[in-house]
Amino acid sequence: MNVYDSDRLRTALTRRGSPGGWEEVPPEKEDEAELVIITGCSVRAKAEQKVWSELGRYETSWKKDRRPVVALTGCVAQSLGKRALSRFPWVRLVAGPRHIGLLPDGLRRIMDDPETRLNLLDEDPRTFFELDEVTVRRENPYRAYVTIAYGCDNFCSYCIVPYVRGRFLSRPRDDILREVRALVGDGVREITLLGQNVNSYGKDFDDETTFASLLREVARVDGLARVRFVTSLPQDFTSGIVDVMASEPAVCPSLNLPIQAGSDRILKLMNRKYTYAEYLEKVRMTRAALPELGLTTDLIVGFPGETEEDFEASLNALREIRFDLVHSAAYSEREGTPAATMPGALPQNVRLERLTRLNAVQDAITLSINEGLVGKKYPVLVDSYAPRGLAPTGERLFQGRTPTDKVVIFPADEGQMGQFVEVTITAAESWCLHGEIAG
Ligand code: SF4
Repeated sequence: MNVYDSDRLRTALTRRGSPGGWEEVPPEKEDEAELVIITGCSVRAKAEQKVWSELGRYETSWKKDRRPVVALTGCVAQSLGKRALSRFPWVRLVAGPRHIGLLPDGLRRIMDDPETRLNLLDEDPRTFFELDEVTVRRENPYRAYVTIAYGCDNFCSYCIVPYVRGRFLSRPRDDILREVRALVGDGVREITLLGQNVNSYGKDFDDETTFASLLREVARVDGLARVRFVTSLPQDFTSGIVDVMASEPAVCPSLNLPIQAGSDRILKLMNRKYTYAEYLEKVRMTRAALPELGLTTDLIVGFPGETEEDFEASLNALREIRFDLVHSAAYSEREGTPAATMPGALPQNVRLERLTRLNAVQDAITLSINEGLVGKKYPVLVDSYAPRGLAPTGERLFQGRTPTDKVVIFPADEGQMGQFVEVTITAAESWCLHGEIAG
């Protein structure tokens, strides 16, 4: 969501043109920037700490040249914004995610008047100032995100999102489809629909619109090759969505279904409204319709009161379900959430030791699944350069994703960027696959 919001902001600011407009400074010339906008995440304490250290980084240049001016946005602004404004004189604007539409004018104001400091935090979790921009300036030219719903009403006991991103609000269907068509017209081949819980899409409308119906319409947009979506809340994930995934060729057979814990006792404390058995049933239903499904999950270890037995239940869930990938995290207290004051907080070393054990179990599962894919062939959108650069042979390496959302690295030509190619998998690691273009 932060990448998407940053792309919209980047587009809105650079589109304004001169005079009074903005120009984006390439990363290697960051020192020349007059304004730095930080869009940060507050879901975990570690992400917040990164933002504090990033904000502190500008002290030397501020003292020397009175620049750059810094604006803090994203959900982290909502939790740290007031303290950032009072602690750092170079932070001159803070805005919550629901005030993104006020940023272009707000940024102009702080740059035009050195005395102005703006607090645009979201005081009312229901008000919204949208930035109506199609992200034509994107981090990736061929892949794009589209938000379909804002905020969340689920109040899982560990989660800060409902407090920093406000109440659930579905975006109008016509706006979404208009944005998808515009992105496809701009060269996008793959779109990821975004929401804290996409499955709730439409529940606040008066008509029959559901996430399943929206997904079908998006999948049928002319010229769009692939659609993905994140993320799904297990209790709201329906057979109707599975039907669309199975019947619409553009919808990828990949699903992130956060389990969070394998123990029913912990799920209850987390205010997740499903049991392990119910979760398992959703997985079985989806795999029955989509045998090649790429299934990932999110899982927290070390939640307050988690016993060794509860933790074992999470390990057993991994062994039984065999996810393709698990986004695991040690429980991190978020101030203001119910879990932060629950009894039974575990020491950090226990949380980290469990995280290490869990990751070892999952790494072996992921590797064995990936090794089973060697020799198979997948259509892959060549979407970016691989982070590691060159093959031992000196060929330039590119990367893309299988329909099941696995990263594949392979040699290709510059001219194949943005194209679909058939890639044969030649080797596997736990975090990625290696391959070569077939034929
Ligand atoms: S559904 Fe997701 S975003 Fe909403 S409260 Fe639960 S964990 Fe947070």
